[in-house]
Amino acid sequence: MEHADMNLCELLNRRDQSLGVGAELFYSDPIELVRGDGAHVFDRAGRRYVDFYNNVPAVGHGNARVADAISLQQRTLNINSRYVHEGVIAYAERLAALHAPAIESIVFSCSGTEANEVAIQMARIATGKRGIICSNAAYHGNSDLVGRLTNVRPGGNPESEDVHSFPFPDWYRPVVSGLSEEALAGEYLARISEAIARLKATDVGFAGMLICSIFANEGLPDLPQGLMKRAADLVREAGGLVIADEVQAGFCRTGHWWGYQATGFTPDIVVMGKPMGNGVPIAGTGASHAIVDAFRAKTDHFNTTASTPLQAAAGMAVLDELEEQHLLENAQSLGQVLKDGLTRIAARNTHLGEVRGRGLFIVVDIVTDKDSRTPDQVLAAAICERLKTLGFLTANAGAYKNLIKVRPPLVISLGDIAAFLETFEAITFEMDAAH
Ligand code: PMP
Repeated sequence: MEHADMNLCELLNRRDQSLGVGAELFYSDPIELVRGDGAHVFDRAGRRYVDFYNNVPAVGHGNARVADAISLQQRTLNINSRYVHEGVIAYAERLAALHAPAIESIVFSCSGTEANEVAIQMARIATGKRGIICSNAAYHGNSDLVGRLTNVRPGGNPESEDVHSFPFPDWYRPVVSGLSEEALAGEYLARISEAIARLKATDVGFAGMLICSIFANEGLPDLPQGLMKRAADLVREAGGLVIADEVQAGFCRTGHWWGYQATGFTPDIVVMGKPMGNGVPIAGTGASHAIVDAFRAKTDHFNTTASTPLQAAAGMAVLDELEEQHLLENAQSLGQVLKDGLTRIAARNTHLGEVRGRGLFIVVDIVTDKDSRTPDQVLAAAICERLKTLGFLTANAGAYKNLIKVRPPLVISLGDIAAFLETFEAITFEMDAAH
């Protein structure tokens, strides 16, 4: 065994002991990363990987502006939110101004999970009802409440009477095949209505719909035209609030500031996280003054390490970087190059079923064959392993775990994209030939 392998073996042992056996790891042969720079990360031996997966370091690994802002603020002052701090106020004002006019105030927290908890509480307080609907392949976080929105079966899960699901909208594997776009939209809207009706038929009632604005974890499905706006209207007509989870979709990722702009609806409540602090744990829930004030009045919400000068300094630096480095434009233009390149490759490969996505968030749907569209999770995982061996980080994901998720930091370069496309083409054709 090589010296480096022995070290890794020893580290993995220590990891099992210190973090517990089963703490998730990417890759059958895991990598130990020690440094990052822009869209690149490096292992202990100095091997470089181009990061096509991580969305938290959206403005780049090792971003100097963010690092300096954090360092300066930590040395100057960091304190809980029960003191006035202009930096926190200015950050909340700036964030709200980036959203649709209905979003006026922000409640900060430290993870997407917490921010979704706050959003659900806001919807419950505003409506006086408890029931939430979500998609049947959603992931919004891991707390007791928010975790109950994961793997919700069509009729609801026996242990959660207040959470019901509807099938996530999908063109590629629709709930009913052979329908026109309009008829398919109608089909999905009917499923949403049914989920609402199930909640309304009980004492629980209907408080709102919580969705990822682009159905990222479901697999970035293409959506029938106008579906999301009609779904939002339907929710409001039923007395509920529309909660847009922007934890994956937000901060320019899709080539829009927010995912709800990409899919065409206006939320009552928005949830932000992940790239917000480029690694500093910041999350936030935004809504109208009325919704946020009612939430504050009812809950006395407090979170020791949220809404702090440190969070604000990191968050502001991220917004500065997004704007000054023109990363929205980068997501649009380089995202198009990436999607066009992958689409061209997929057209000539039997196992690359479809390429979907927006901006710098693209998935390749891996199938056993293009006619049956049967998801091929094993091949997807094998492609990710091979990409890693050749120096590119991705992961397989989606409702069927058969998608190659391509979601690089927004600072990715054209050269890195070209290199990725070349490698992706070579290995998928190699594998196509072998199957
Ligand atoms: N919402 C979505 C759409 C997510 O993908 C995730 C995490 N993958 C979360 C919320 C939860 O965020 P966190 O891990 O910061 O709690």
